[in-house]
Amino acid sequence: MSTTNTSITVVGCESCGYQAIPPKYTCPSCYSALTEREASGTGTIYSYTTIHVAPGKFASQLPYAVILVEFDHGLRVTARLEEGEDEPQIGRKVQLSRVEDSVYWFRGA
Ligand SMILES: [Zn+2]
Repeated sequence: MSTTNTSITVVGCESCGYQAIPPKYTCPSCYSALTEREASGTGTIYSYTTIHVAPGKFASQLPYAVILVEFDHGLRVTARLEEGEDEPQIGRKVQLSRVEDSVYWFRGA
């Protein structure tokens, strides 16, 4: 697996610090325009849950874990762990490996 660190594009409010993933260009908190930037793809598993029932294209992958990752810069995303990764553990360091069909995939960092 590649050791290159994948970064993500986030938008942030320079007035109040609100962060989001595009497309989203106005801060819902103070209505300032958001600024796009590259941010680190490293974070920590904040929470996770195991999915036992899923529709359509995900059914063949059952059961699988959906993780909530808190990036080092504070934004949280729901995501998946790459195949072959250890069971998720809260507090474990992870690194974004790819984004596919709006799904964030992580591997151990
Ligand atoms: Zn704001």
